[in-house]
Amino acid sequence: MWIDTHCHLDAAEFDPDRPEVIARAHAAGVRRLVVPAVMPSTFDAAREAALLCDGAYALGSHPLYVHQAGPDAVRQLEQALQHWRDDPRLVAVGEIGLDHFVPELQDEASRAAQEALYAGQLAVAAKAGLPVILHVRRSADHLLKHLRRLKTEGRPVPGGIAHAFSEQQAMAFVELGFKLGFGGAMTFDKALQIRRLAAQLPAECLVLETDAPDIPPQWLYRTAEERAQGARSRNEPAELPRIAETLAELRGWTLDETRAITTANALAALPRLVALGRTLRT
Ligand SMILES: [Zn+2]
Repeated sequence: MWIDTHCHLDAAEFDPDRPEVIARAHAAGVRRLVVPAVMPSTFDAAREAALLCDGAYALGSHPLYVHQAGPDAVRQLEQALQHWRDDPRLVAVGEIGLDHFVPELQDEASRAAQEALYAGQLAVAAKAGLPVILHVRRSADHLLKHLRRLKTEGRPVPGGIAHAFSEQQAMAFVELGFKLGFGGAMTFDKALQIRRLAAQLPAECLVLETDAPDIPPQWLYRTAEERAQGARSRNEPAELPRIAETLAELRGWTLDETRAITTANALAALPRLVALGRTLRT
């Protein structure tokens, strides 16, 4: 069994053919999908998508939706976690984080709003004892600062999944109990830094994700020119085993080894998936 630890199956891109997307994932052996919400208005959709694919979901507000999420987003997360706390499919808080790349969200007020949203949600995750699925874009050091602060205050977040672009950041996340997600970006020959990390980090740190419909792997990638001509590039969970072939090559592992290692790591990062595996149909 493969686990896609991060896919936005509830996204509008999948509205035309969601059941087929799920069928292709299952046929490819991607039996467990984790669907993170992006703001309170998508909480129900993430949960429904998880039910539809016999998978799991996470609740939280994504930094790119900091303004749409509204001033009440942290309280709404707390209420939703309370409401669904006995739902075995709820496995994490996410997708939360900080985006220090997208130009529209780099003014002082937007950065402050992102940080307040992230810090508030981290505290809620720590209180609920749930791991977090992080959005990291040029923001690893700021994300780590808040994780360390909670740890120092004696209310640590129980790990989760992050991304890193240097070994130092990667190991800082690992020290805080995190696994590191690898996906389509790793399949590009030019992504030297990501490929080096995928090749060299300790095996027990690595998990796989598609972030579908985003981050299409190299074989689905469309250039700006192709996109202008209407060519689509939609990533989907069924691509995960082929993405994993890149990891297998980089590590010198067989595909079976890659599956066994990354699945075990995903279960360690999101422990509620273990119980879910026992209660589900397959
Ligand atoms: Zn995402």
